This record gives sequence, C-alpha cells and structure tokens, in this order.
Amino acid sequence: MNSRRSFLKLAPALLGACALAPRLLANPAAAAPVEENDPAAAAIGYKKDAAAVDPKKYAQFKPGSTCANCALYTGKSGADLGPCMALAKRPVAATGWCMVWAAKP
Ligand code: SF4
Repeated sequence: MNSRRSFLKLAPALLGACALAPRLLANPAAAAPVEENDPAAAAIGYKKDAAAVDPKKYAQFKPGSTCANCALYTGKSGADLGPCMALAKRPVAATGWCMVWAAKP
C-alpha cells in the first residue's frame, strides 16, 4: 500500500485526535474517568468505591474517607466525578479512595 493511501485511511482518526487534544489539555476533567486498572491508579491502590477497600491490605484506610473528602480532589461538592491532583487532574469517582488519601484541611 502506498503512503498516500495509508495517510488517507488514517486521516479521519488523526483529525479526531487533533480535535479532542485541545479539549483534554484545557479541561482534563473532560477525560474518561480513571479506571482501577489504569497503571497510575493501580500504583496508588485506587478503588472506585471506598467500600470495596480491603482494610487488611490498606491499613491506612480510615472508614469514611473517600475521594470527595480528600485534599487532592478538586471536584465540585455533590458531583459524581472530579479531578484528582495525584492522577494528573483526571476524573476519579467521588466515592473512590486510594492510599494517597489526605484529609481536606
Ligand atoms: S489522591 Fe485522593 S482524590 Fe485522588 S484517588 Fe486518591 S483518595 Fe481519591
């Protein structure tokens, strides 16, 4: 296959990526919610639901601690998702938790 034909086949995907990139850079919260198996999230033990945290595995877990009351969470009160400063401002679940949790001041 010649390179011109290859480029023409990839052009729509490239245009789509170019159109989305500025939106993500300007508003990381517009990114897809962080998944538990995301490498950065898994490294800090992120769970979408704090109720699923195993306190035997994470001795630092305090009942009642969630992303919504974490100092690194910058989501709006009452929102389901919000940016996490520990995960490049990508959206995490307000009900989530990870081992980096720190109480809001
Ligand atoms: S640092 Fe805070 S807001 Fe981010 S995932 Fe951990 S508990 Fe949630």
